[in-house]
Amino acid sequence: MIQLYIPLNFLGVIYREIKQSLTDLDKMFVLMEKEREVRDAPDAKPLNLHLLPRAGEGRGEGTSPDATVRFEDVSFAYEPSRPILKHVSFEIPAGKTVAVVGPSGSGKSTLARLMYRFYDVGVGSPGAGGGRITIGGQDIRSVTQASVRQAIGIVPQDTVLFNDTVEYNIAYGRPGSTHEEVVAAAKAARIHDFIAATPKGYATPVGERGLKLSGGEKQRVAIARTLLKDPPILIFDEATSALDSANERAIQAELQSAARNKTTLVIAHRLSTVVDAHEILVLEGGVIVERGTHAGLLAQDGRYARMWSMQQVEAAPVL
Ligand code: ADP
Ligand code: MG
Repeated sequence: MIQLYIPLNFLGVIYREIKQSLTDLDKMFVLMEKEREVRDAPDAKPLNLHLLPRAGEGRGEGTSPDATVRFEDVSFAYEPSRPILKHVSFEIPAGKTVAVVGPSGSGKSTLARLMYRFYDVGVGSPGAGGGRITIGGQDIRSVTQASVRQAIGIVPQDTVLFNDTVEYNIAYGRPGSTHEEVVAAAKAARIHDFIAATPKGYATPVGERGLKLSGGEKQRVAIARTLLKDPPILIFDEATSALDSANERAIQAELQSAARNKTTLVIAHRLSTVVDAHEILVLEGGVIVERGTHAGLLAQDGRYARMWSMQQVEAAPVL
Protein backbone atom coordinates (compact mmCIF):
# COMPACT_ATOMS: atom_id res chain seq x y z
CA MET A 1 0.00 0.00 0.00
CA ILE A 2 2.63 2.45 1.07
CA GLN A 3 4.91 1.38 -1.75
CA LEU A 4 2.15 2.01 -4.24
CA TYR A 5 1.14 5.31 -2.71
CA ILE A 6 4.53 6.96 -2.81
CA PRO A 7 5.27 6.39 -6.50
CA LEU A 8 1.80 7.56 -7.46
CA ASN A 9 2.15 10.70 -5.44
CA PHE A 10 5.58 11.20 -6.91
CA LEU A 11 4.19 10.74 -10.40
CA GLY A 12 1.53 13.30 -9.59
CA VAL A 13 4.20 15.84 -8.76
CA ILE A 14 6.10 15.05 -11.93
CA TYR A 15 2.89 15.25 -13.93
CA ARG A 16 2.14 18.71 -12.54
CA GLU A 17 5.70 19.85 -13.21
CA ILE A 18 5.55 18.63 -16.79
CA LYS A 19 2.15 20.18 -17.34
CA GLN A 20 3.41 23.51 -16.03
CA SER A 21 6.51 23.31 -18.24
CA LEU A 22 4.33 22.62 -21.24
CA THR A 23 2.19 25.63 -20.41
CA ASP A 24 5.33 27.74 -20.17
CA LEU A 25 6.61 26.29 -23.44
CA ASP A 26 3.33 27.18 -25.11
CA LYS A 27 3.71 30.73 -23.93
CA MET A 28 7.30 30.86 -25.04
CA PHE A 29 6.30 29.79 -28.53
CA VAL A 30 3.59 32.43 -28.61
CA LEU A 31 6.21 35.00 -27.60
CA MET A 32 8.71 33.66 -30.13
CA GLU A 33 6.04 33.83 -32.81
CA LYS A 34 5.70 37.52 -32.02
CA GLU A 35 9.44 38.06 -31.92
CA ARG A 36 9.84 36.41 -35.29
CA GLU A 37 7.93 39.27 -36.88
CA VAL A 38 10.69 41.69 -35.97
CA ARG A 39 14.33 41.25 -36.86
CA ASP A 40 17.10 43.80 -36.48
CA ALA A 41 19.06 44.77 -39.56
CA PRO A 42 22.64 43.42 -39.38
CA ASP A 43 23.98 46.98 -39.18
CA ALA A 44 21.31 48.23 -36.76
CA LYS A 45 22.53 50.84 -34.29
CA PRO A 46 20.83 51.95 -31.12
CA LEU A 47 18.24 54.71 -31.35
CA ASN A 48 19.96 58.02 -30.76
CA LEU A 49 17.82 60.76 -29.25
CA HIS A 50 19.46 64.17 -29.52
CA LEU A 51 18.96 66.65 -26.73
CA LEU A 52 16.90 69.68 -27.57
CA PRO A 53 16.46 72.85 -25.53
CA ARG A 54 13.04 72.80 -23.93
CA ALA A 55 10.82 75.74 -24.75
CA GLY A 56 9.65 77.88 -21.89
CA GLU A 57 12.07 76.53 -19.29
CA GLY A 58 14.44 78.56 -17.21
CA ARG A 59 18.01 77.61 -16.46
CA GLY A 60 18.93 74.16 -15.24
CA GLU A 61 16.98 71.26 -16.72
CA GLY A 62 16.50 73.05 -20.01
CA THR A 63 16.91 70.10 -22.38
CA SER A 64 14.93 67.00 -23.21
CA PRO A 65 15.46 64.24 -25.78
CA ASP A 66 14.06 64.81 -29.26
CA ALA A 67 11.63 61.93 -28.99
CA THR A 68 9.33 63.12 -31.76
CA VAL A 69 7.29 60.19 -33.09
CA ARG A 70 5.99 60.22 -36.67
CA PHE A 71 3.70 57.79 -38.45
CA GLU A 72 4.19 58.45 -42.16
CA ASP A 73 1.52 56.95 -44.42
CA VAL A 74 1.45 53.75 -42.39
CA SER A 75 -0.61 50.84 -43.69
CA PHE A 76 -0.57 47.47 -41.96
CA ALA A 77 -2.20 44.04 -42.04
CA TYR A 78 -1.73 41.00 -39.79
CA GLU A 79 -3.00 38.85 -42.66
CA PRO A 80 -2.55 40.06 -46.25
CA SER A 81 -6.23 39.61 -47.05
CA ARG A 82 -7.37 41.90 -44.25
CA PRO A 83 -5.92 45.44 -44.14
CA ILE A 84 -6.11 46.91 -40.64
CA LEU A 85 -4.45 50.35 -40.84
CA LYS A 86 -4.84 52.41 -44.01
CA HIS A 87 -2.55 55.36 -44.76
CA VAL A 88 -2.26 56.61 -41.21
CA SER A 89 -0.13 59.75 -40.74
CA PHE A 90 0.36 61.79 -37.60
CA GLU A 91 3.09 63.31 -35.48
CA ILE A 92 3.58 63.41 -31.73
CA PRO A 93 5.95 66.35 -31.23
CA ALA A 94 8.55 65.73 -28.52
CA GLY A 95 6.98 66.18 -25.11
CA LYS A 96 3.39 66.36 -26.40
CA THR A 97 0.41 64.03 -26.10
CA VAL A 98 -1.61 62.65 -28.99
CA ALA A 99 -4.79 60.76 -28.17
CA VAL A 100 -6.51 58.08 -30.24
CA VAL A 101 -10.18 57.29 -29.82
CA GLY A 102 -12.56 55.14 -31.83
CA PRO A 103 -14.66 52.01 -31.72
CA SER A 104 -13.19 48.68 -30.68
CA GLY A 105 -11.52 46.86 -33.55
CA SER A 106 -10.63 50.12 -35.35
CA GLY A 107 -6.88 49.50 -35.00
CA LYS A 108 -5.94 51.59 -31.95
CA SER A 109 -3.90 48.90 -30.19
CA THR A 110 -2.26 48.04 -33.51
CA LEU A 111 -0.82 51.58 -33.58
CA ALA A 112 0.65 50.97 -30.12
CA ARG A 113 2.07 47.57 -31.13
CA LEU A 114 3.74 48.99 -34.24
CA MET A 115 5.24 51.88 -32.28
CA TYR A 116 6.68 49.44 -29.71
CA ARG A 117 7.93 47.27 -32.61
CA PHE A 118 5.96 44.14 -31.87
CA TYR A 119 5.56 44.09 -35.65
CA ASP A 120 7.39 45.87 -38.45
CA VAL A 121 5.51 47.78 -41.10
CA GLY A 122 5.93 46.30 -44.57
CA VAL A 123 8.06 43.35 -43.44
CA GLY A 124 6.99 39.75 -43.95
CA SER A 125 4.14 38.94 -46.31
CA PRO A 126 3.61 40.96 -49.52
CA GLY A 127 0.44 42.45 -48.06
CA ALA A 128 2.12 43.62 -44.86
CA GLY A 129 1.64 47.28 -45.73
CA GLY A 130 3.93 50.24 -46.13
CA GLY A 131 4.99 53.62 -44.87
CA ARG A 132 7.28 54.18 -41.92
CA ILE A 133 7.45 55.12 -38.28
CA THR A 134 10.24 57.34 -37.05
CA ILE A 135 11.43 58.33 -33.60
CA GLY A 136 13.76 61.31 -33.44
CA GLY A 137 13.91 61.16 -37.24
CA GLN A 138 15.12 57.54 -37.31
CA ASP A 139 13.14 54.78 -39.00
CA ILE A 140 12.48 52.36 -36.13
CA ARG A 141 13.17 49.40 -38.46
CA SER A 142 16.75 50.63 -38.94
CA VAL A 143 17.67 50.80 -35.25
CA THR A 144 17.80 48.00 -32.68
CA GLN A 145 14.50 46.79 -31.30
CA ALA A 146 15.98 46.77 -27.79
CA SER A 147 16.83 50.48 -27.96
CA VAL A 148 13.33 51.34 -29.20
CA ARG A 149 11.80 49.44 -26.29
CA GLN A 150 14.18 51.05 -23.85
CA ALA A 151 12.95 54.48 -24.94
CA ILE A 152 9.28 53.55 -24.55
CA GLY A 153 7.16 52.69 -21.53
CA ILE A 154 3.96 50.90 -22.46
CA VAL A 155 0.93 50.11 -20.35
CA PRO A 156 -0.84 47.62 -22.60
CA GLN A 157 -4.52 46.77 -22.60
CA ASP A 158 -3.82 43.32 -21.15
CA THR A 159 -0.82 42.99 -18.90
CA VAL A 160 0.94 39.65 -18.59
CA LEU A 161 3.04 39.40 -15.44
CA PHE A 162 6.19 37.35 -15.01
CA ASN A 163 6.11 34.29 -12.76
CA ASP A 164 8.11 36.14 -10.14
CA THR A 165 7.61 38.43 -7.17
CA VAL A 166 5.68 41.71 -7.23
CA GLU A 167 8.98 43.44 -6.52
CA TYR A 168 10.57 41.89 -9.63
CA ASN A 169 7.56 42.71 -11.78
CA ILE A 170 7.70 46.39 -10.85
CA ALA A 171 11.51 46.73 -10.76
CA TYR A 172 11.65 45.22 -14.26
CA GLY A 173 10.80 48.73 -15.46
CA ARG A 174 14.24 49.86 -14.32
CA PRO A 175 16.57 47.02 -13.32
CA GLY A 176 18.75 48.00 -10.40
CA SER A 177 16.17 50.23 -8.73
CA THR A 178 16.05 50.25 -4.95
CA HIS A 179 13.20 48.86 -2.87
CA GLU A 180 12.26 52.42 -1.90
CA GLU A 181 11.92 53.39 -5.56
CA VAL A 182 9.73 50.34 -6.20
CA VAL A 183 7.52 51.26 -3.24
CA ALA A 184 7.23 54.89 -4.40
CA ALA A 185 6.11 53.73 -7.86
CA ALA A 186 3.63 51.28 -6.32
CA LYS A 187 2.19 54.06 -4.17
CA ALA A 188 1.77 56.35 -7.18
CA ALA A 189 0.01 53.52 -9.02
CA ARG A 190 -2.26 52.93 -5.97
CA ILE A 191 -1.19 49.28 -5.63
CA HIS A 192 1.02 49.63 -2.54
CA ASP A 193 -1.73 49.10 0.06
CA PHE A 194 -2.86 45.94 -1.71
CA ILE A 195 0.71 44.58 -1.80
CA ALA A 196 1.42 45.55 1.80
CA ALA A 197 -1.69 43.65 2.94
CA THR A 198 -0.45 40.32 1.53
CA PRO A 199 1.51 38.11 3.99
CA LYS A 200 4.75 38.26 1.99
CA GLY A 201 4.31 41.82 0.76
CA TYR A 202 6.60 42.69 -2.12
CA ALA A 203 8.07 39.15 -2.03
CA THR A 204 4.68 37.67 -2.99
CA PRO A 205 4.98 35.60 -6.17
CA VAL A 206 2.45 36.63 -8.83
CA GLY A 207 1.48 35.31 -12.23
CA GLU A 208 0.30 31.84 -13.23
CA ARG A 209 2.10 30.12 -10.36
CA GLY A 210 1.56 32.75 -7.71
CA LEU A 211 -1.08 35.12 -6.50
CA LYS A 212 -3.65 35.68 -9.22
CA LEU A 213 -4.27 39.38 -9.64
CA SER A 214 -7.41 40.93 -11.08
CA GLY A 215 -7.26 42.87 -14.34
CA GLY A 216 -7.21 46.15 -12.44
CA GLU A 217 -4.44 45.00 -10.10
CA LYS A 218 -2.30 43.83 -13.02
CA GLN A 219 -2.92 47.15 -14.73
CA ARG A 220 -1.67 48.98 -11.64
CA VAL A 221 1.47 46.82 -11.50
CA ALA A 222 2.12 47.71 -15.16
CA ILE A 223 1.57 51.41 -14.37
CA ALA A 224 4.00 51.21 -11.43
CA ARG A 225 6.56 49.53 -13.70
CA THR A 226 6.18 52.27 -16.29
CA LEU A 227 6.35 55.11 -13.75
CA LEU A 228 9.58 53.58 -12.44
CA LYS A 229 11.02 53.20 -15.95
CA ASP A 230 10.42 56.92 -16.57
CA PRO A 231 11.23 56.75 -20.32
CA PRO A 232 11.06 59.68 -22.79
CA ILE A 233 8.11 58.07 -24.63
CA LEU A 234 4.91 56.68 -23.14
CA ILE A 235 2.09 54.58 -24.54
CA PHE A 236 -1.07 54.15 -22.48
CA ASP A 237 -3.43 51.69 -24.17
CA GLU A 238 -6.68 52.01 -22.24
CA ALA A 239 -4.36 51.89 -19.25
CA THR A 240 -7.07 52.37 -16.64
CA SER A 241 -9.95 50.54 -18.32
CA ALA A 242 -10.09 47.78 -15.68
CA LEU A 243 -10.12 50.15 -12.69
CA ASP A 244 -13.09 51.35 -10.68
CA SER A 245 -13.82 55.03 -11.16
CA ALA A 246 -12.31 56.22 -7.83
CA ASN A 247 -8.99 54.50 -8.55
CA GLU A 248 -9.17 55.57 -12.17
CA ARG A 249 -9.48 59.23 -11.28
CA ALA A 250 -6.60 59.06 -8.80
CA ILE A 251 -4.31 57.26 -11.25
CA GLN A 252 -5.28 59.46 -14.19
CA ALA A 253 -3.78 62.37 -12.26
CA GLU A 254 -0.54 60.40 -11.78
CA LEU A 255 -0.42 59.43 -15.44
CA GLN A 256 -0.97 63.00 -16.50
CA SER A 257 1.88 64.22 -14.37
CA ALA A 258 4.08 61.34 -15.63
CA ALA A 259 3.28 62.37 -19.20
CA ARG A 260 4.37 65.98 -18.65
CA ASN A 261 7.18 66.73 -21.13
CA LYS A 262 7.04 63.13 -22.39
CA THR A 263 6.10 62.13 -25.93
CA THR A 264 2.86 60.30 -25.22
CA LEU A 265 0.36 58.23 -27.17
CA VAL A 266 -2.87 57.82 -25.21
CA ILE A 267 -5.49 55.37 -26.35
CA ALA A 268 -8.53 56.32 -24.38
CA HIS A 269 -11.81 54.68 -23.64
CA ARG A 270 -12.99 57.62 -21.59
CA LEU A 271 -12.90 60.92 -23.46
CA SER A 272 -12.48 63.02 -20.32
CA THR A 273 -8.82 61.91 -20.30
CA VAL A 274 -8.02 63.35 -23.75
CA VAL A 275 -9.36 66.90 -23.61
CA ASP A 276 -5.90 68.42 -23.11
CA ALA A 277 -4.19 66.43 -25.87
CA HIS A 278 -2.16 68.30 -28.49
CA GLU A 279 -4.15 66.39 -31.11
CA ILE A 280 -6.97 63.85 -30.95
CA LEU A 281 -7.32 61.27 -33.74
CA VAL A 282 -10.62 59.51 -34.35
CA LEU A 283 -9.87 56.11 -35.87
CA GLU A 284 -12.52 54.05 -37.65
CA GLY A 285 -11.81 50.95 -39.68
CA GLY A 286 -8.09 51.76 -39.67
CA VAL A 287 -8.61 55.24 -41.13
CA ILE A 288 -8.27 58.59 -39.35
CA VAL A 289 -11.72 60.01 -40.00
CA GLU A 290 -11.45 63.13 -37.84
CA ARG A 291 -8.59 64.95 -36.14
CA GLY A 292 -8.04 68.09 -34.13
CA THR A 293 -8.08 69.52 -30.64
CA HIS A 294 -10.96 68.82 -28.29
CA ALA A 295 -12.48 72.26 -28.94
CA GLY A 296 -11.90 71.98 -32.69
CA LEU A 297 -13.54 68.56 -32.86
CA LEU A 298 -16.54 69.70 -30.83
CA ALA A 299 -16.94 72.62 -33.26
CA GLN A 300 -16.83 70.16 -36.21
CA ASP A 301 -19.91 68.56 -34.68
CA GLY A 302 -19.08 65.14 -36.16
CA ARG A 303 -18.28 61.71 -34.73
CA TYR A 304 -16.15 62.99 -31.86
CA ALA A 305 -18.80 65.49 -30.83
CA ARG A 306 -21.39 62.71 -30.82
CA MET A 307 -19.16 60.40 -28.77
CA TRP A 308 -18.54 63.25 -26.34
CA SER A 309 -22.20 64.07 -25.79
CA MET A 310 -23.00 60.37 -25.36
CA GLN A 311 -20.37 60.02 -22.64
CA GLN A 312 -21.64 63.15 -20.91
CA VAL A 313 -25.05 61.50 -20.66
CA GLU A 314 -23.50 58.25 -19.36
CA ALA A 315 -21.43 60.14 -16.81
CA ALA A 316 -24.38 62.13 -15.47
CA PRO A 317 -25.62 61.02 -12.06
CA VAL A 318 -28.73 58.89 -12.21
CA LEU A 319 -31.54 60.46 -10.18
P1 ADP B 1 -8.66 48.25 -31.11
O1 ADP B 1 -7.50 48.38 -30.18
O2 ADP B 1 -9.05 49.54 -31.77
O3 ADP B 1 -9.84 47.60 -30.48
P2 ADP B 1 -6.93 46.37 -32.51
O4 ADP B 1 -5.80 47.20 -33.05
O5 ADP B 1 -6.65 45.56 -31.31
O6 ADP B 1 -8.22 47.29 -32.33
O7 ADP B 1 -7.41 45.40 -33.65
C1 ADP B 1 -7.75 45.86 -34.96
C2 ADP B 1 -8.18 44.66 -35.79
O8 ADP B 1 -7.07 43.79 -35.98
C3 ADP B 1 -9.27 43.83 -35.15
O9 ADP B 1 -10.20 43.47 -36.14
C4 ADP B 1 -8.55 42.61 -34.64
O10 ADP B 1 -9.38 41.50 -34.67
C5 ADP B 1 -7.39 42.46 -35.61
N1 ADP B 1 -6.21 41.86 -34.95
C6 ADP B 1 -5.60 42.29 -33.83
N2 ADP B 1 -4.53 41.54 -33.51
C7 ADP B 1 -4.45 40.59 -34.49
C8 ADP B 1 -3.54 39.50 -34.76
N3 ADP B 1 -2.50 39.24 -33.95
N4 ADP B 1 -3.77 38.75 -35.85
C9 ADP B 1 -4.82 39.00 -36.67
N5 ADP B 1 -5.69 40.01 -36.48
C10 ADP B 1 -5.53 40.80 -35.41
MG1 MG C 1 -7.28 47.97 -28.20
